[in-house]
Order: sequence, then C-alpha cells, then structure tokens
Amino acid sequence: MSPSLDPLGAALQSPPVPAPGCSQAPVLRERGQREVFCGLTGIVWLHRKIQDAFFLVVGSRTCAHLMQSAAGVMIFAEPRFATAVMEERDLAGLADANEELDAAVTKLLERRPDIKMLFLVGSCPSEVIKLDLSRASERLSRQYAPDVRILSYSGSGIETTFTQGEDNCLAALVPTLPQAEGDEPNLLVIGALADVVEDQFARLFDALGMENVRFLPPRRSRDLPPVGPSTRFLLAQPFLGETARALEERGAQRIAAPFPLGAEGTTLWLKAAADAFGVDPMRIRSATAAPEARAKRALEPYRAELDGKRLFFFPDSQLEIPLARMLSRELGMELTEVGTPYLHRQHLSEELPLLPAETALSEGQDVDRQLDRARAIRPDIAVCGLGLANPLEAEGMTTKWSIELLFTPIQGYEQAADLAALFARPLDRRTRLRI
Ligand code: SF4
Repeated sequence: MSPSLDPLGAALQSPPVPAPGCSQAPVLRERGQREVFCGLTGIVWLHRKIQDAFFLVVGSRTCAHLMQSAAGVMIFAEPRFATAVMEERDLAGLADANEELDAAVTKLLERRPDIKMLFLVGSCPSEVIKLDLSRASERLSRQYAPDVRILSYSGSGIETTFTQGEDNCLAALVPTLPQAEGDEPNLLVIGALADVVEDQFARLFDALGMENVRFLPPRRSRDLPPVGPSTRFLLAQPFLGETARALEERGAQRIAAPFPLGAEGTTLWLKAAADAFGVDPMRIRSATAAPEARAKRALEPYRAELDGKRLFFFPDSQLEIPLARMLSRELGMELTEVGTPYLHRQHLSEELPLLPAETALSEGQDVDRQLDRARAIRPDIAVCGLGLANPLEAEGMTTKWSIELLFTPIQGYEQAADLAALFARPLDRRTRLRI
C-alpha cells in the first residue's frame, strides 16, 4: 500500500509538535528611566525568615527612609534591621568610615546578644565611596567569631533591583554552608518562603518519600544546610541567579522546573524534584492529586471573575513570567505585555513554553515608553510598583501593587486561591466604588 498523501491523514499519523509558547519569542529590551525598588527592600521579608539575623544597612538617610516606608508598621516592633547612616565626615575619609562602622557594630552586638548572624548591607553611598564591606565583615568576623557570623552583600540601587537583594543575600550565605558528607542525594529548596508555605512543602516532600530535604535560607542561622556534589537544588523563586551560580560552584546541580505558583505550577515543581530523585510516578500522583484538586476547586470562583481580563505587567520582581503563566493558564486571564527587570532564560526554561505564544515580553525598562504602551492597551489590570500605582489609578487604570506578591504567602496549593484573590480584589474594589 502506498503511503497516504491525504493531509488530514498525515496530521493524524505524525506526533503532535509541542507548542513553543514563548520560548522562542522575541523580547523587547529596554534601557532607560526605571521605576523599581533597590535591593534593600528584600531585608523586609528576609529578617522575618532568619529569626536570629540582623541586617545593618551601611547607607544614607535616604536608605533609612526607604526601609521605614517599605517596612511600614514593622518599624514599631523591635526590628532586626537598621541603617548605619554615613555622615559627610565619612564620605570625606574612608578610614573614619571603617572606624565608625566597627564602633556601630560593637554597640549593636553589645545591646543585642540575641543576634547570631549579622549582614552588612551595601548601598549606593557605601559603593560610591568604595567602602569595602566584605573586608569589613572579615575583620569583624575575626573579632566576634564564633558567637556571631558576619557577612556582607550589596543591596544598592546601582547594582540591584528589588528581589535581587535576596539573591545577593543568599549567595553570600552559600560559601558558609557546611560541606555535605557522603554521596547520599539530598535536596535543597532555595528562596525565602513564608514559614507556613515551607511547612506545607516539607509535608508534601515527606508524602513523596523524600527524606533529605532542607530549605535555604534557614529559620535559624545555626541551622545551615549542607551542600556538595550530592546536592540537587530546586529554586522556589525565579530571581536567584547568583545564588544558583554559587551553589553550582560547590558542586550542587539545579533541577529545572516551573515555579510553585498555582495548582498546576506546584504539581510540576514537586514532580520535577520527585522525578530527579526517582520517586515512583504513582506515588507522585497519590501525594499531589488531592491537594491539587482542592486548589483547583478553590480557584474556580476567581476564574469566573478573572477569565478574559487583560493583564499588563510592569517589571519589578522577576516573578512576572511565572505569575503570568499561572494567571493565564489557571484563571483564563489574557496577557498583553509581560515586563520583567531581568529575564533569566535558563531558569525560566520550563516557564516560557507555557506562556501563550502571542504574549509580548519585555526586559528592563524605559518607563515613559512603557507607560505609553500601557495607555494604548488600557489593560483591565496593571501590575506595578508603588511609584506607578497611584498615578495609573488616577488615569482610570486598575492596578495591583507587586510588592504584596513578596509579602504575602503565594506559593503552593493552599495559597493558590490567595494568589488569585490578590488580583481579583482590585477589580472588585473598582466595581464596588463605581456602584
Ligand atoms: S541603596 Fe541607593 S537606591 Fe536604595 S535607598 Fe539607598 S540610596 Fe536609594
């Protein structure tokens, strides 16, 4: 029998070609005026996670003001962060700045014996005068070891945007992690997660029969997880490029996975880890089926509200692409532009194919041009930083502050509906106000 030339028959016989989604899509790269936070902001959630660490920003009054406004009411509880404000005198002479920093650290550690790990956090002013905080941390470590471990990283606006502060902080932790002994495989979950989310994931890994699972950052600075060539790591956040690099330098290998946002994302994330550890597919199904079904049910009412709504992401946290994937696939939202401050192709390799092929992607920012595009599109909801939110609302656009996506637990099955609610609420509020 001669082979059929019938095109329909041919289509039926050949395997389906996987849709490339956005993996090959062109990306608009822009450099210009930016409206983003600097990396200092990460301290607000990191200090809640590592409960015996203190973050000392070496910066100016501007940095202190930023921390105050970003942390909001938290500044009234005894916080574990502060700013060592550099005065003009310090700017004039580096010797003075080092002496004053040592004095500030001594005073702080005398007053707060509960501090077991101290991060010296670099800022624009400390970088501009080239104050070497890594040397300062070595010098001070010698003085305070073994009671207090002193580390440094940069959170300056010159070098970092928003969530990159967490990346730098975790990357600074990696060289201090103990060496993993033996060759028993172990899993490290990387990225600051709310304790409740971490506990849920720990239970799920347990249900998958995966015993050797640790989280970075830890809740206590003495509880640093070991790392070595037997370590596989799973990123829980998409903005951890430097941390991943530092872990790879220690021999650990990354497990490629989408990020655990939404019901589908969480299953794919857990499955990627379980597959890497050779867990039986039946066991994966039985551990994830019930919580996934529960999450999908909890998402249903939000799908009814959000389906077909047009979404525009200004770049802010690097969470934009995984969020856009979840909102389009699980809630039916229509993506217009998805902007990200930095597009890490390798770490997003499992996410990009899941985005609708027609999504416009942009990396970096030229804020005026981007505002023009948003005005032309007039999305139903624009996700942006605090600096743009009110001006856009005044122009009649509904906005969602992206900072809440870092302060609210959004990962995992149980939080899928809370994540959807963050997007439904501003639309709901606008409708109510109109009535
Ligand atoms: S680190 Fe730089 S951008 Fe951030 S608050 Fe301080 S001066 Fe401003």
